[in-house]
Parts: sequence; C-alpha cells; structure tokens
Amino acid sequence: MSHPRKFMGSLAISLLLAAAAHAADFSVQPAGETTMMPDILADAADDPAFWLHPTDPARSFIIGTNKLTAANGGLYLYNLDGSQFDSVLGARMNNVDVRYNFTLTGQKVDLVAATDRTHGVIALYTVDAAARSLTPAGSIALDGLADPYGFAMYHSKQTNRHYAFVSDNDNDGTVRQYELFDAGGSVSGALVRQFNVGSTVEGIVADDELGYVYVAQEDVAIWKYGAAPAASATPADRTAVDFTTSGGGPLTADIEGLTLYYASSGAGYLIASSQGASTYFIYKREAGNDFVASFNIVANESAGIDLVTATDGIHVVNGNLGAVPGAYDWTAGLFIAHDDWNIFHTDTSPSGQNFKLVKWSDIATYAGTIPLTIDTTWDPRSIPEPATGPLLLALAAWPTLHRRRPLSLNT
Ligand code: CA
Ligand code: CA
Ligand code: CA
Ligand code: CA
Ligand code: CA
Repeated sequence: MSHPRKFMGSLAISLLLAAAAHAADFSVQPAGETTMMPDILADAADDPAFWLHPTDPARSFIIGTNKLTAANGGLYLYNLDGSQFDSVLGARMNNVDVRYNFTLTGQKVDLVAATDRTHGVIALYTVDAAARSLTPAGSIALDGLADPYGFAMYHSKQTNRHYAFVSDNDNDGTVRQYELFDAGGSVSGALVRQFNVGSTVEGIVADDELGYVYVAQEDVAIWKYGAAPAASATPADRTAVDFTTSGGGPLTADIEGLTLYYASSGAGYLIASSQGASTYFIYKREAGNDFVASFNIVANESAGIDLVTATDGIHVVNGNLGAVPGAYDWTAGLFIAHDDWNIFHTDTSPSGQNFKLVKWSDIATYAGTIPLTIDTTWDPRSIPEPATGPLLLALAAWPTLHRRRPLSLNT
C-alpha cells in the first residue's frame, strides 16, 4: 500500500478482491512471524531482506523496513525466530536489499542498502558480523528523483561489479542504475543508466547469475530487462513475464515485491506479490519465465498466527538456515512476506504490521501435486572465477598484439 489512509479498510478490501480474482492454486501456513511494528493501525512495514552469516546460519538475521515516519522509520533486525533484536531508526526506509563481497578500504564487506524517503537518498550500511549490527557506510544522493521508492542491488557474476537499482514514486516509472564504488572508505555511486518503464514502479529484483533485472510496473506487468548498464532498456528490448488483469493477465494490482529462488544450473523461481488478491505467483527463473503456480498464506490456527493479506515486499532464502527445536526449522529455506494486518481472530487489541515466515519446504511440497525444487546450494557470496589457462595467456599476450598492429599500420 502506498498511503496510510488506505490501511484502515485494507483487510475488507483485500478479502473482497481475493474472492473475485484468480484463486490461489494452493495455501500454506506461516511457521513464524516477526515482532510487530510499533505503529498501530498504520501502513508502516514494507519490504524484507536477509543477511546470511558467513559461517553460522543461526546468527543470520531478517531485515524489515518501516516507511511511515522518521521517528519509527528505519531498518528493523530480527532473529530467525522472528524476535526483534535491533533497529536503525530516523528515516522512512522503503525497500531494502543485501549483497556480499564489496571491496571497501581493501576489505570484503557485506552491504545492506535501502531507499531513504526522508533524506531522498540510497542509505548504505556494512554488516558487523560479530556484533550482528549495521554500520553506516555512506549514502547516494538522488538529485531529480521526487521520492526514492523501489530498490534492489545487483552483483554481476560476470564482472564482479556491484550496482544499485532505484525507482522513483512518480508517474512514468523512472528507474536509475548506479555502479557502487569505494569513495575513500565510504560507499558512493555513479549513475550508469536511467530509463522509464511507463508508470509507477516499486518491486525490483536482480538475477546476479543470469544478468537480468525484473521490474514490477505496479498496475501493469512484470518486466525483464538486461541488468548490465550497457543493456538496452527500450520497450522493444524488454520481455513481459506476466500482466495484471487490466492487461489480460492473472495478477491483481498492485504488483508489489519480487524475489528470486536460485537453484543450480540457472534454474529456480521468480516470485511476485499480487497484492490486490493477497496471492503470490511463482514463475520459472529460466528463459521464458513460465508460470508454475500461485499460493496464498492462511492462518496457522495451532500456532496462533494470522493469515497474510495485501503483501508489499517478499524475500525468499534458499540456504539451509538450520533448526532450533521449539523455535524454527528453516533447514530447507525460508519465505518472508509483509503482512498488512497482524491480528489473530481471538485477539481484540489494536494491531499493526509485521512479516510472516513460511518454510520453503511447505511451499515446495504443497498439496501433494507437482513439487517445487528444494536446492540449498546457492552461495550468495560467490564471486566470478579468475581467468585461467588459455584466456589468461590470451590476456597476457593482448598488449603485445595490440601494440604491433597500430605500429604496422602507421608505418
Ligand atoms: Ca502498493
Ligand atoms: Ca507500491
Ligand atoms: Ca527486499
Ligand atoms: Ca511497497
Ligand atoms: Ca494478517
């Protein structure tokens, strides 16, 4: 949801729309949920991300944004059982993403970055793995953008360069791409590409391995563009993954969060939040992005966890995050979904928003029909292999060859 005033009636609206829209192919229950945002009866939370600890998965954490006010706005950090343990407050943070192995002052660091709507910037942090905390690492000014909105990072496995994609909350769907660099110990960015999608864009996710960026034009379609800064971003050079009902497709506006499940050999899934129907659509990650199935998240009665409606951001983790008896079991991965109304039917106290946590194994084995892939081998920290063998020899010889040609031509 874009506006707090929409929140009050959102539960009723989403239930009405759910009845009219494409029915979900299957339902799952949340196995956990995060601590609720402090803002009661308000559209505060938006987008999750996940930081994977380099050696001890149990010390990983979930990150959630609060976009409502500067006072409570920021990044909230949650343990794997959903309990909040830290926050970085003071700005309306909208969308958040994580990437690894960025070189800062000669050290490999993990980056957390978000669209900061209070200051009109991309706010960047490094992760202190020992302290499980975020350290400010710079900001990128976004001159000319009215309201920084969607956000995703891209770590190219072809070039080992890091990029940030940011959208403007405007009418023509402006998307900018920045290359991230070390500006003397803090992270800065150079604008390398800008294009218009056509109308408001928020959800963005980049495929580090295959080199694509997926963009959700909220009222219209999910588009797939080349993620390299030199890739063409004209309408002729993008591919539609799927459309909203207004374009003849099954998605119910807004199309909100997008996330990628990385399986081996370029396989896996793209998942999208069809917010108006409180449903998630799964597509193949491979070329063609064929539709696989749709699902929704219903209440877990025995655990006292409510159903999920009107989801903004989503994030899927396909690593083995381990299990703690009585707390969680994310051994086959974790799906995180924003919930716009955190209230169980027996609860009479005023409520707000949080994030629901679903076992990927529950999604993958739904209803006993066609199971989805469970593949926990993807390493988000992987970097390109250095050039070896014939390629390295060719590169070593290149300056000599290059020098020879102009010399012979000039004489
Ligand atoms: Ca929305
Ligand atoms: Ca939106
Ligand atoms: Ca995110
Ligand atoms: Ca949103
Ligand atoms: Ca709910």
